[in-house]
Amino acid sequence: MGDAPLDCLVIGAGVIGLAVAREVARTGRSVALWERRSEPGAEATAAAAGMLAAAAEAHSPGPFFDLARRSADLWAGWAEQLLEESGVDVEYQDSGLLRVTTSSEVAGDLEIRRAWQLAQGLQVSELLGLEELRQVVPQLGPEVVAGLHYPGVAHVHSHRVAEALALAGSRAGVQLRLSTEVTGVRPRGELLEVSSGAERQLAERVVVATGSWGEQLLRGLGVNLSPEPVRGQMLALRPRGRPLPEIVFGDLGYVLQKRSGLVLVGATEERVGYLAETTLEGVARLAAMARSLIPDLGPAAFAGAWAGLRPFLESGPVIGPLPQDPRVILALGHFRNGILLAPVTAQLVGEVVAGALEPEGLLAFSPRHILGG
Ligand SMILES: Cc1cc2nc3c(=O)[nH]c(=O)nc-3n(C[C@H](O)[C@H](O)[C@H](O)COP(=O)(O)OP(=O)(O)OC[C@H]3O[C@@H](n4cnc5c(N)ncnc54)[C@H](O)[C@@H]3O)c2cc1C
Repeated sequence: MGDAPLDCLVIGAGVIGLAVAREVARTGRSVALWERRSEPGAEATAAAAGMLAAAAEAHSPGPFFDLARRSADLWAGWAEQLLEESGVDVEYQDSGLLRVTTSSEVAGDLEIRRAWQLAQGLQVSELLGLEELRQVVPQLGPEVVAGLHYPGVAHVHSHRVAEALALAGSRAGVQLRLSTEVTGVRPRGELLEVSSGAERQLAERVVVATGSWGEQLLRGLGVNLSPEPVRGQMLALRPRGRPLPEIVFGDLGYVLQKRSGLVLVGATEERVGYLAETTLEGVARLAAMARSLIPDLGPAAFAGAWAGLRPFLESGPVIGPLPQDPRVILALGHFRNGILLAPVTAQLVGEVVAGALEPEGLLAFSPRHILGG
């Protein structure tokens, strides 16, 4: 058996588990974070482009859009706090984003999107033609026919986010255990017993933040939920031309420039199981997409490629206590938006750990709502 019972044990040190563990530790509770890999943030989190793009990701008004906006609004303050607590700059850049299209049919969809987003109070331009768009990003290619400008959209450096959260968490008291795979969680009297092989630890609450994994753990808890890995491949380039002033988000992917000068080109969406590898086909598709949006990238130097597994759940994110055992809290299924949604997820889970059963804004994502019970 491990040490004295903990207030909370978080399983999985991706951006979600790291954010939750830090949040709970900041309230003075004892928290451990157990991670299977030898470093934090090594799975989907490390692969992410770091866009905080509620505007480009939500397809309709509703709870997901509200949650995403709420989190996007938290991000600037969160980045400052993380710098103060960890000394790590997560490179928050509110560059703005152009959502562009090469198809006149999609341009019609963008008009519809603009109408509901405007009604929701989002800052968005009129539908712009190529010449107007080029006043924002001069490098846009001639295939682009129309687009929307979102001046407020930001991005961060996802590796730095994981690093900052891990450091800030450990300074707040999070006991991070790496290379420790959780193999079971079961009730033991008033507490929960978490096991990793022969090792055991008791905790009052357990947060499951296992990304694309954890189906078996969940089944052991009587939960029928299967996160599906959706592979995303990404390409990094070292451009030779002018800096790219904003995120350019097209029909088939996006291009953005990090503070280091690296241009990221992402991302494929592939259902190939747990194969987190890059392929010639994937990289070729990304290269063609990037050249169509920004032809200037042709002579850019190849600086790397990687892949990660986005945690997909049909229902969208599931966040909150299990109806059959509220001591177990889920924080899963953040799919394409885990970096964006980390601050709000941490805040809501923090409230649940502190005793709130259904914090405001959580109902649509709660396991009770999604799984029934
Ligand atoms: C190419 C790509 C681009 C992306 N771009 C963006 C973007 O621009 N903006 C954005 O917001 N999101 C983006 N995402 C999505 C984002 O990366 C994910 O939503 C986010 O990282 C999910 O975080 P997570 O903590 O749930 O999962 P993960 O980061 O996968 O972390 C889960 C962790 O749990 C651990 N684990 C699993 N099972 C166990 C166990 N039994 N015991 C112990 N540990 C366990 C894993 O090892 C892993 O470290 C992108 C993703 C990809 C692949």
